[in-house]
Amino acid sequence: MKRFLTVCFLLWIFVFTIPLLALRNHGDTIPELPLPTVQGSNGTTDASVTVTLNNNGTVENLPLDEYLRGVVAAEMPALFPEEALKAQAVAARTYTMKKLTSPPSAEHSGAAVCSDPAHCKAYSPLSSFAAAWNDNSEKYTEKISRAVKETDGEILLYDNEPISAVFHSTSSGMTENAKDIWGGDAPYLKSVKSTGDEDSPHFKEEVKLPPEEFKEKFLEKHKDAVFDKNPENWITNISRTDAGSIMTLSVGGVNIKGSELRSLFGLKSANFKFAYTDGSLVFTTLGYGHGVGMSQYGARAMALEGKKYDEILSFYYTDVTLGKISRKTS
Ligand SMILES: [Zn+2]
Repeated sequence: MKRFLTVCFLLWIFVFTIPLLALRNHGDTIPELPLPTVQGSNGTTDASVTVTLNNNGTVENLPLDEYLRGVVAAEMPALFPEEALKAQAVAARTYTMKKLTSPPSAEHSGAAVCSDPAHCKAYSPLSSFAAAWNDNSEKYTEKISRAVKETDGEILLYDNEPISAVFHSTSSGMTENAKDIWGGDAPYLKSVKSTGDEDSPHFKEEVKLPPEEFKEKFLEKHKDAVFDKNPENWITNISRTDAGSIMTLSVGGVNIKGSELRSLFGLKSANFKFAYTDGSLVFTTLGYGHGVGMSQYGARAMALEGKKYDEILSFYYTDVTLGKISRKTS
């Protein structure tokens, strides 16, 4: 009886588990799901989708694959491993498809996306990187093009809709819950423990400021701030997310968001510690960027460990599935 049960169990594993494992393979098992109509799209490939881009004030139309090559090159170092570049291509494509299926932004003069990295995604034509890449120009051009081509048409979905596939350079070791940083609810943008971020040149940085400079700059924005004699007392009431970023703090008695202080003083992230040492205000940041979604240095570390792009993406974006862009059939 025991042997019979063992045989049954093994058969069950063989019949059900092996096909499931095969489903995890990359390639032809990605479902095609109907999405809202994409203007200019007449197929399921990047080349069939037209992107309207506001490139430094000039609105231009270009095929999605060409646009993505420029975004991946501008957003991630080309020397990163191929699987990290592929994860970046899928994240950028998903972000773009979300924009293309939303009403055009008035800030873009009607275009779907812009080339300002602080607003949408950085973009520059792939050919413009040749000089910076120098001897590696041909190799990197091929590498970036391959990352886009090998993920052609693939996007991340949650509830059959493209997600807001946000990403950042370097996490603090934990990514942030979108809810803690921006409010609202994005169930797929949850905090995860990220490894390998410490290899980033921006993992930990220090910014030193003379107290007078800090005070002057802050008063330009907040005239009602009151600074006492001891700079140690200037920053109080710090509240942090579980991952460490400062949500709110009080500066000279004025309550502001951590992100505001970050942009005011050019800090790499809102995950910072503050000290008054040797006559200077010292801000020590962990990570680079808002900390939500995929960490690019974390993606790099996963790729170096042998993880595939879909594994990287499903690690940083919770409960998402990989789908393909398609023309709405109804
Ligand atoms: Zn924009």
